[in-house]
Amino acid sequence: MSKREDSQYQKDQMLTVEITDIGNDGEGIGKIEGYTLFIKDAVIGDKVRCKIMKAKKNYAYAHLEEVVEASAHRQLAKCPIARQCGGCQLQNMTYEKELSFKQNKVRNNIVRLGGFDGEFVDSVMEPIIGMEEPWRYRNKAQYPIGRDKNGRIVAGFYAGRTHSIIPVSDCLIGVEENKEILDIVIAHMEKLHVEPYDEASGKGLVRHILIRKGFDSGQIMVCLVINYKGKGGEFIPGQQELVDALAKISGMTSISVSINTEKTNVIMGYDIRTIWGRDTITDTLKGLKFEISPLSFYQVNPVQTDKLYGQAIEYAGLTGKETVWDLYCGIGTITLSMAKNAGQVYGVEIIQAAIDDAENNAKNNGIENAKFFCGKAEEVLPEYYEKTDREDASLHPDVIVVDPPRKGCDSACLETMLKMAPERIVYVSCDSATLARDLRILSDGGYVIQKVRPCDMFPHTVHVETVVQLTRKE
Ligand code: SAH
Repeated sequence: MSKREDSQYQKDQMLTVEITDIGNDGEGIGKIEGYTLFIKDAVIGDKVRCKIMKAKKNYAYAHLEEVVEASAHRQLAKCPIARQCGGCQLQNMTYEKELSFKQNKVRNNIVRLGGFDGEFVDSVMEPIIGMEEPWRYRNKAQYPIGRDKNGRIVAGFYAGRTHSIIPVSDCLIGVEENKEILDIVIAHMEKLHVEPYDEASGKGLVRHILIRKGFDSGQIMVCLVINYKGKGGEFIPGQQELVDALAKISGMTSISVSINTEKTNVIMGYDIRTIWGRDTITDTLKGLKFEISPLSFYQVNPVQTDKLYGQAIEYAGLTGKETVWDLYCGIGTITLSMAKNAGQVYGVEIIQAAIDDAENNAKNNGIENAKFFCGKAEEVLPEYYEKTDREDASLHPDVIVVDPPRKGCDSACLETMLKMAPERIVYVSCDSATLARDLRILSDGGYVIQKVRPCDMFPHTVHVETVVQLTRKE
């Protein structure tokens, strides 16, 4: 058949297909005579029966109806609602296969989107850093509070791309204390008739519950995000009773409310009031103490963060005298982890509150060779560069570390990095597609990729972190 008509495959058509590949979002991919089917929740190696949801000329999205023959890589999802929740896309794939999928995803993006030779990329790739125990790894959870079909108050997760809440008593990638805390808050709300917030009407009080735990310190923080419009008095009816119940939980260190009266998808409100205990919890990372407030950015998987930073430090090749720039530094975790092995470290970050945290963190840890700048990396760096005395060798950066958000580095930032010509660049990335694009620019600008190491920060999801070491061509 030379030309396939649009009508060849249609909505609601049932097909049986073998899954031969995995898409970027973790979906199974099967082909029938060159026609591609994308099937969510199908695992590579499965033979499945599926129903077409949306048919295009050369491909279709189909719904998994039945696994006819299960793949050797398939396993029963540990969480009973993994499919509905959508937070974990890969729970029905063995962890071993998940790791190899992530390794390949990074490799293929660098080859295809970065335009690098496949054999070359294979020669610089190091094996992905996986987790020994890939469950209960998250130190932070944000549960929306609402009502279920029967009108009961529930905490849970928004069903993929919707606003309806699927109740979850115990999310398996979060800590065990989450359930205990949620049960206490919900029982209190039921007892005193405290209304959960309703997105449609903008009425009701309790919107979200944020829970954070310092894995090293064991300290726990609870922050109730409330649509509070009163003045003075209690934030929540029966506040003292609720606080007393929560304070009994082992490790409880800080209980606060975050006032958010806006009709918005943004979870947290900026007005935070501590109602019991301390304003922050403390955690230790790479031997340094960090103070974490409800609004602070802090990596969510501390076990893997330790390994990721360890890899970044190794790639930075520090001997104690280097000048290091850490761009997109957040609360300065990477900057400060590198400070004791460097001469001078500089951190750049766009959010003022994070810079304030970074400066406090430096002080609390007795670090004196760290300096932080608030602003856009693509503006702070060129400005600094223009002002620098290029004859003064002490100002020349030896290492630049970048850890940008998903959209990658701004081109002005990359250009200045090339002009500043550090010996090494360490690129920490949470999106291998933009990483690949930026690696092409750095490579064309005179840098050579030495090593690439993926790190699994978010087991059972399709997200993968990567650290890359580049060195300047002589
Ligand atoms: N390295 C840190 C944070 C990485 S997250 C850590 O490991 O914890 C990326 C950070 O980049 C966020 O803190 C975000 O606020 C910041 N950011 C986003 N755009 C930026 C820009 N244009 N310039 C500087 N920082 C930016």
